Amino acid sequence: MNKIRSRFAPSPTGYMHIGNLRTALYEYLIAKSQKGEFVLRIEDTDQERYIEGAVDIIYKTMKDVGFVHDEGPDVGGAYGPYIQSERKSIYKSYADQLVDLGGAHYCFCSAEEIEKQRQYAEQNGKPFKFIDPCKSISVDEARERIKNGEKYTVRQTIDPVGKTTFIDEVYGKITVDNSALDEGILLKSDGLPTYNFANVIDDHEMKISHVVRGNEYLSSTPKYNLIYEAYGWDIPTYVHLPPIMKDEHNKLSKRNGDASFQDLVQKGYLPEAIINYIALLGWSPKTEQEIFSMDELIEKFSIKGINKSAPIFDIEKLKWMNGVYIRRLSLEDFHEKTLPYYQQTIKREIDLKELSKILQSRINTFSEISELIDFIESLPDYSLDLFIHKKMKTDLSISLKVLEEALTVFDNPDCFGSREKLHNELIAMLAKMGMKNGQVFWPIRVALTGKQFTPGGATEVAFLLGQKESIKRINIAVNKIKNAQ
Ligand code: GLU
Repeated sequence: MNKIRSRFAPSPTGYMHIGNLRTALYEYLIAKSQKGEFVLRIEDTDQERYIEGAVDIIYKTMKDVGFVHDEGPDVGGAYGPYIQSERKSIYKSYADQLVDLGGAHYCFCSAEEIEKQRQYAEQNGKPFKFIDPCKSISVDEARERIKNGEKYTVRQTIDPVGKTTFIDEVYGKITVDNSALDEGILLKSDGLPTYNFANVIDDHEMKISHVVRGNEYLSSTPKYNLIYEAYGWDIPTYVHLPPIMKDEHNKLSKRNGDASFQDLVQKGYLPEAIINYIALLGWSPKTEQEIFSMDELIEKFSIKGINKSAPIFDIEKLKWMNGVYIRRLSLEDFHEKTLPYYQQTIKREIDLKELSKILQSRINTFSEISELIDFIESLPDYSLDLFIHKKMKTDLSISLKVLEEALTVFDNPDCFGSREKLHNELIAMLAKMGMKNGQVFWPIRVALTGKQFTPGGATEVAFLLGQKESIKRINIAVNKIKNAQ
């Protein structure tokens, strides 16, 4: 068997669409699971859509998610250049060759002529299919005209008789009538190829064995196969993927405001979790396993597990999975990743490592952090109603009693020696007062944070804030309650 070679061929759009990232992942897994090679190719023939820095975003994404490409513009390889705009002369000579082989022809039609045909079809309620008058021009005559400087394109020539059949690994056997295929442009008048031509030339030249791409290319694939056949080349294995949906009816799309890979990272998702989640968007391991390291994915992935029904992107599931990954980080790693979030919110001197210890078991995404820790910097203006909690069996007078007692406990200089020590002191206090856990811990936590939901309980928060700040906040609460009575 020939070596497995797959490729990721993104267009530099300036962001990484989740669907494209999944394509890249499956390409990567197909190659790596079979000890093959993975190629990165930049498809930038649409020069009008050039976006500054867009290629760097592609490199950065590959690096962030850990896809190591064996060949590509930045690492080189035997089949370069790997940027399409640098392959112009290659396409031109292949296009001329295809004309000689009868698979294409030169076209001199102006945009107005084509538009006239389109309008005629529209007026007559017929589907538009361009009938190219230039097909009757002999190759010699056409080349003479080109030599004389006439503008031209190269169009595919398709014999309308017969059918084209191919096998897609996901969608199965597909057959189309050749009469349904349009003779589209292969080489534009600026000398650059369209996707319809470049994908065939590049996949052949780069010895690609497996082509993974979105199913929007499924209907054009017979045209590509006719080109392969005209040259007498082997057709690659096709793996077309269903779109990722945002809901039952709408595709996930950046245009609809849906998140790109960069957006998700910005929102506090870990690249490893995103990759794990999107691996399962369309592929099933046929077991209950949901958490996969990259090595496990490489080991378990198979094309046969790809499903043709369109998966729905479930952000809640991704959140959960991200939480699993967050808890698997070492405290050091977690702390390093949380630091930028702390720096945005906290100016006072506290033991941030201690804060990380509290948060790591509680958050699913890093973007939850700011809201959870805002009380550290400044105590919010809270309502006394917070002290009244039925389940905790607290009211204002119990709260006042507890907080006054807590002040004397907190005043002891040893009390803040360690979190355990502080906890034991509070347990001793509630035993002495004959109170239930909630009756002591609830009012203290409210007094320290001014919030109903906090990361960590009373002891953890008090330890974090330190003795001085804790005493200050409890005093504020005591005065608040007294003033209200
Ligand atoms: N450049 C195409 C895109 O970004 C890639 C299609 C393919 O993988 O062949 O959609």
